[in-house]
Amino acid sequence: GDLRNDEFKVVGDLGAGAGGTVDKVVHVPTGTIMAKKLVLIDAKPAVRKQILRELQIMHGCASPFIVSFYGAFMREPHICICMEYMDRTSLDGMYKKHGAIDVPIVGKIAEAVLEGLTYLYDVHRIIHRGTYARRSGPSDSLWPPVLGLLDVRTCVIRRAGTDIKPSNILVNSRGAIKICDFGVSGELINSIANTFVGTSTYMSVSLWCSHPASGNYVYVSESTERTSSARADQPERIQGGNYSVKSDVWSLGISLIELAFGRFPFSNNDSPTNGSHGSSSNGDGNGNGGEDDSDLPDELRATAKASRAPPVLPSSSSGAANRPPPPAAGPNMSILDLLQYIVNEPAPRLTPPGKYPREAEVFVDDCLQKDPGLRKNPKQLLVTPEDLEVWAKGMA
Ligand code: ATP
Ligand code: MG
Repeated sequence: GDLRNDEFKVVGDLGAGAGGTVDKVVHVPTGTIMAKKLVLIDAKPAVRKQILRELQIMHGCASPFIVSFYGAFMREPHICICMEYMDRTSLDGMYKKHGAIDVPIVGKIAEAVLEGLTYLYDVHRIIHRGTYARRSGPSDSLWPPVLGLLDVRTCVIRRAGTDIKPSNILVNSRGAIKICDFGVSGELINSIANTFVGTSTYMSVSLWCSHPASGNYVYVSESTERTSSARADQPERIQGGNYSVKSDVWSLGISLIELAFGRFPFSNNDSPTNGSHGSSSNGDGNGNGGEDDSDLPDELRATAKASRAPPVLPSSSSGAANRPPPPAAGPNMSILDLLQYIVNEPAPRLTPPGKYPREAEVFVDDCLQKDPGLRKNPKQLLVTPEDLEVWAKGMA
């Protein structure tokens, strides 16, 4: 039957993102533990009904690599989405707490995400697509200097929330790795977007990055249309699907580096996030600041071992003779500086050479091919299972 808000008892706080909060709850009538996400939107009742209708498609999503959906309902004026509770929560919390994630595990994560994306796309034509963030107010005045550098025609910045990134890759104590927060509902995407979005200038590039300060991944689309008006059932959206699938691949590449390094690759911090000290900062609500890797699922812990993050920034700021110097990358970089950096500088890589298995280096390079036309899609990346296997075994 349909879920109702008064049937739930909150038993914990799993965290909050830019667009809402997630609680650990018990569905009292059935005793089922769930994760209940409150999505803050500002939409008319008819639109909210449409969102709920569109979300029903998730009832049909059954894959070991996708977080299961229990149902969604309105909580005026917002929307609640109830999903499978993943008792080890998300990978961002894990690396922030325990430091860099071991390469064999990162390989498993890569495989799980690719399987999840392939399932969503092949079976449901769902692309793991994000929402569009508004840039408004004084920061809009930052645009003009960027125009010349980026050949800006149109620019869409996708707000995180439905993207491949560590906070949307969840794990449980059985060692399952699953993705969540994918964009099944065009109306939901639009509503979130409309809650934040204004008009913006658009850029002629298509890249993903994550903002070091907010942790949000942003997507710069080469699209020249107002993509925020796209709907799931329109041909341009479906055509756009190929690109979006490849955008997911870029996001995956960045996420894998982030996990393997234990920090966001566009940050030049010398000290990697080291989980052994201090609790995770994202309010994951597990409370305990943690003895070593007690949070790691057993199956993952078996292969985990201490690992230090290498230095990060792509070293080659060199070939840039007649370009303005790149902005200094770092946690205080503005989103626009970061975009400029990503456009002008080589994609990040698993470095230093020799530290990671060759297969892992190649895989990540394939994900981070800057030209989406040359970038592989999830299926192409999955057809080299031997590679992933070698990777998953680590450097023998
Ligand atoms: P953003 O809003 O930018 O997407 P986010 O993904 O961190 O960021 P939410 O999707 O609101 O934000 O999730 C908040 C946190 O709740 C996540 O970081 C994750 O740790 C936790 N979480 C989300 N869904 C689940 C779930 N099904 N089971 C367990 N924990 C979850
Ligand atoms: Mg999320």
